[in-house]
Amino acid sequence: MRIVDLSMELRTGTPVFPGYPTPIVHVWTSIDEHGYYSNLLVLDEHTGTHVDAPAHFIKGAATIDEVPPERFMGEGVVIDVSGLPPKAAITEELIREALKGASVGPGWVILFRTGYDKRAGTPDWFDHPGLDEGAASYLASLNVNAVGTDAPSIDQQPFPAHRILLAKGIPIYENLTNLAEISGKKFKFYGIPLRIRKGSASPVRPIAVVAEPL
Ligand SMILES: [Zn+2]
Repeated sequence: MRIVDLSMELRTGTPVFPGYPTPIVHVWTSIDEHGYYSNLLVLDEHTGTHVDAPAHFIKGAATIDEVPPERFMGEGVVIDVSGLPPKAAITEELIREALKGASVGPGWVILFRTGYDKRAGTPDWFDHPGLDEGAASYLASLNVNAVGTDAPSIDQQPFPAHRILLAKGIPIYENLTNLAEISGKKFKFYGIPLRIRKGSASPVRPIAVVAEPL
């Protein structure tokens, strides 16, 4: 079995969604001065690779600390949408075609590979394909554990997929990376968030455990 790291590096200046503060990783103590090394983190919950809780878009819905941990793992599948044009809609038809009747449902985590992780911090980073309303409703009807993308958002404004998936209690991973490495493979996904009280999201270091010999 092989482990694939699906996270972006978290550092001062990691690119963020417009309007969010640039993260800071600042040396707080050093071995030379204090005898032990540590950093101060200043960042929004939606910095780098992170997972959105239902409360991010739905008033009164579960915050990140209230989502059961089993939601943040499952049988993984990557749907490759990297061939789509800028800002293209990822549709129900496209998802059905990609899944080809596989029995995907509760216990599954569906990841979309847009390839836009490679454009992080560039002007066209936000031209990524996104789930449309029909696609989000279809995924919600499948009642999957979670959904994710290697783009900075699962959808484009006015964020129909955020509203539909989160209303169904389905967490959303954003800013994943390395999805090409696990595309077409059988893997288990694990992406446990921090237990932030009343958190709207949390940074995560998700991994894929690929069921194949090295
Ligand atoms: Zn988010």
